[in-house]
Amino acid sequence: DRLQHVLEQEKRRINKYYAVLFMDLDRFKVVNDSLGHNIGDLLLVESARRIRKCIRSEDTVARLGGDEFVILVEAMADAHQVVKIAERILRALAEPADLEGYKVFASTSIGIVLGDERYEQAEDVLRDADIAMYRAKRRGTGGYEIFDPVMLDSVISRLELEHDLRIAIDEGQFVLHYQPVVDLAAQRMLGFEALVRWNHPTRGLVMPGDFIPLAEEIGLIVPIGYWVMDEACRQIGLWQEKFPATPPMSVSVNVSPRQFVEKDLVEKVAGMLEKYCLPSGSLNLDIAESLIMEGSSNTTSLLARLDELGVHAQIDDFGMGYSSLGSLQTRLIEILKVDRAFIANLETDGVGLEVVRMIISLAHGLGMKVIAEGVETDRQMEMLAGLNCEYAQGYKIASPLDSREAVDWLGRLFDGSGGEFEIR
Ligand code: C2E
Ligand code: MG
Repeated sequence: DRLQHVLEQEKRRINKYYAVLFMDLDRFKVVNDSLGHNIGDLLLVESARRIRKCIRSEDTVARLGGDEFVILVEAMADAHQVVKIAERILRALAEPADLEGYKVFASTSIGIVLGDERYEQAEDVLRDADIAMYRAKRRGTGGYEIFDPVMLDSVISRLELEHDLRIAIDEGQFVLHYQPVVDLAAQRMLGFEALVRWNHPTRGLVMPGDFIPLAEEIGLIVPIGYWVMDEACRQIGLWQEKFPATPPMSVSVNVSPRQFVEKDLVEKVAGMLEKYCLPSGSLNLDIAESLIMEGSSNTTSLLARLDELGVHAQIDDFGMGYSSLGSLQTRLIEILKVDRAFIANLETDGVGLEVVRMIISLAHGLGMKVIAEGVETDRQMEMLAGLNCEYAQGYKIASPLDSREAVDWLGRLFDGSGGEFEIR
């Protein structure tokens, strides 16, 4: 109502500059799901309080629902003022909130519409502000974006992508590629990481970075994730038979935080292991660092139940998230995967080497083994072996391979006699 009122005034050129800021809290759902609705509610209240402090008393803040807030700024002296407000809010919300003993980090993303005479309806302003916010989120959380009409086009192409993604599972358009992981000391094959690709009918092979975020946002990651797990289990079962080794080859699949709140995750995993008669230790789950660090009791009990099934957890891309080492309670984490950014710095200077050395000794001290990701050179392999890093994965060993290439690769390694794989 207030926005509509401003639009009417605009027609008569009374209210020169106005703007609408549309925001929602980044990762609010994760907070709600992992720490409970009570903490979620407290976070909303605290956020509202902080937002109010950032604006003038004559401006309007509204909570539209869920974790969405809208701010109407009227009668600005100049358009630049709104940017200052946005920056103030971003700073205010970036501060961690102390909620019943939890330190909760919840930044926000803001979409801004600068009022102009094109707008007649309040809904149109809100729609565009929402689009701009979505843009801000895609660029990375904790930022703002000002609406530009070309954004509408990209919304339409996103809707098309979303539509295509919804039918992709039924149409069997996903495929898995497999990247070998090797044991550095024993010089043998450990297993594979399964990496999903989308064989789009017109776009060709789409990489996970271009559709997993969308799938997560619209909830499709759950059925896609189950498909990935099932397919990876089926495939590794076949390969274990064809290429027997002790211990048998394993496969890791990437699991999004969203999948971790599914009630039947453990049952489904158990069902797949049984369906494909996989021995204990055949399946590993790559889990984001942030999920472990939040350290909710929910995650811990899930990990414990998976561990009982012989399904091991691995921390993915370690070092890239926010690390609260205090909560690295990792009796239930088998392996830490060092992000490839650190491996890339191994050879550049002594600092890079020291950082990797420190991460490896941290992992070992906590009883975890280490996979170095993104190993691209012989020198990196040698250095990692020298640092007692157990495993490595990367282009130096092999790129992600489709299932046929993977069979060829295994065939070249497999000596046939003792059923072991020597890396040469
Ligand atoms: P990630 O789990 O960190 O996977 C490793 C990524 O690094 C892969 O990219 C792989 O191709 C790439 N990589 C491997 N070796 C090297 C190397 O030596 N150098 C460089 N520069 N890169 C290397 P990809 O396949 O594009 O996957 C990207 C991300 O998408 C994955 O990162 C993972 O987070 C996500 N992802 C992939 N498959 C799935 C899936 O089935 N489910 C979910 N939820 N996420 C997935
Ligand atoms: Mg991974």
